Amino acid sequence: MRCEARQEADRKKGKVWLVGAGPSDIGLMTVKGKYLLERADVIVYDRLAGQGALTLGNPGARYIDVGKTAGRHPVPQQEIHRILVEEARKGNRVVRLKGGDPFVFGRGAEEALELEKAGIPFEIVPGITAATAVPAYQGIPVTCRNKASSLHLVTAHKKDGSFPDIPYGALAESGGTLVFFMGVHTLPRIQEGMRKAGMKEETPAAVLERGTTAGQRKILGTLKDIAEKAKEAKVQSPALILVGETAGMRELEWYDRRPLAGKKILLTRPREVSGELAAMLREKGAEVLEAPSIRIVPSREAGELAGALAEKPGYDWLVFTSRNGVRIFRDSLRQARVDIRTLAGVKVAAIGPGTGSALEEVGIWPDLMPEIYDGGHLGMALKEAVKTGERVLLPRARKGSPEVTAPLLKIPGVEIREIPVYDIVYETCPFLDIRKEIEEKITDYVLFTSASTVRGFVKTAEGMDFSLVTALCIGKQTAEAAAGYRMQVRTAREATPRALVELAEETAAEETGALK
Ligand code: SAH
Repeated sequence: MRCEARQEADRKKGKVWLVGAGPSDIGLMTVKGKYLLERADVIVYDRLAGQGALTLGNPGARYIDVGKTAGRHPVPQQEIHRILVEEARKGNRVVRLKGGDPFVFGRGAEEALELEKAGIPFEIVPGITAATAVPAYQGIPVTCRNKASSLHLVTAHKKDGSFPDIPYGALAESGGTLVFFMGVHTLPRIQEGMRKAGMKEETPAAVLERGTTAGQRKILGTLKDIAEKAKEAKVQSPALILVGETAGMRELEWYDRRPLAGKKILLTRPREVSGELAAMLREKGAEVLEAPSIRIVPSREAGELAGALAEKPGYDWLVFTSRNGVRIFRDSLRQARVDIRTLAGVKVAAIGPGTGSALEEVGIWPDLMPEIYDGGHLGMALKEAVKTGERVLLPRARKGSPEVTAPLLKIPGVEIREIPVYDIVYETCPFLDIRKEIEEKITDYVLFTSASTVRGFVKTAEGMDFSLVTALCIGKQTAEAAAGYRMQVRTAREATPRALVELAEETAAEETGALK
């Protein structure tokens, strides 16, 4: 077949990418995997594919959960094969997202063989395997000069659930680092097998649970007591068992040294504007999940903007109260082919630095920004700046706060035109169980940047006891909304991403202090 014809046939047939999602931390997803997720029509995932990786998926994609929990198989392997083949045959771009690396104990080979048999085109996208990453996040190198010169990956669990024949003798002799997968329930037998094979009882051993997440744990022991210690600690799947000299190394434990280590934070603001905040929190060590509770949709009235800007006489002031407003404004002008020079001579106000930097991105340096970044202070600052008889254009959310406009109305002859340029609709994350996150204390803080993000969040978990939520709020109005649902509310010193990060750090530090 000619290349083009082949490509065309492939497109019609669809294709499956078996993508490794890494062990959980979103930062350990590969660039190629992210690219494919963003362009997927269908995303087939299971429990080990980290939530973070899932948030990278095309929001328009269909998410199919084929998750298995240890011992229980909600979706049998045969059924997973059928789904992959069927979705690809419909012409879809299918991403089969798997934890770690798809070809390391992930049954990736089985799935690829089925695709090959069915004549479905596929690609394998390797991922970072838990075998190296989970120890690394605990400061354990799997190889180290004078301590371990080989690495052995072993499954402790057979396909049919029975116990595999592990070559304990050879492993004991190797002197390398041994990594056992899927071994939580078989740990006593592994321990026994290694000891019988002649491995020293004092050989360091560690159980590493939920590695690379905020909830990661390390249970350290030796071949003598590790099974007992793991039982005491009530270790849950997923966990790795490590045996070897490096397992006992403590001097490289870097993970917990960061101020927000061990904290999982949900961000509820729209995805388009949450990136900077997510990055800042991650730098401080937090696990951050971008799970928007609202979505911004341009309104029908946004189309009126271009006409308003063309009016003669023109507007004297343009007032922006959110990054979203700026974004919609920019898109509407582009759509209507309005040249930015139309705005020459128009004064521009921004509610705060976030909105200000969004304006700077389109080449506008705001003329006015209040000292305190909220609607009331913006209104008061405008009252000082706007002159009698001037015309003010306010493109913002439908039902925006009257605090901005009330002081302006006191200026004689002023003309204010509000255009509701966007609507806010509530959004639910397709793979996140908010109730479980909060009730089981998997998520530590929920971060809100507007009253609408609070309402959207509440909507996704109706009936839940919201007093369990620690709400980090950007400002007064947001805090009032959260308090209305009896959340434990903390408010940032000012409405900036930096102040929110500081608020998270203070909250974490207080909790640590309280524990001591
Ligand atoms: N393909 C995966 C392994 C899948 S087998 C990889 O390359 O990492 C599933 C087993 O992997 C689990 O039972 C557990 O032993 C291990 N595992 C996967 N993710 C883990 C994590 N975040 N923390 C600890 N163990 C993990």
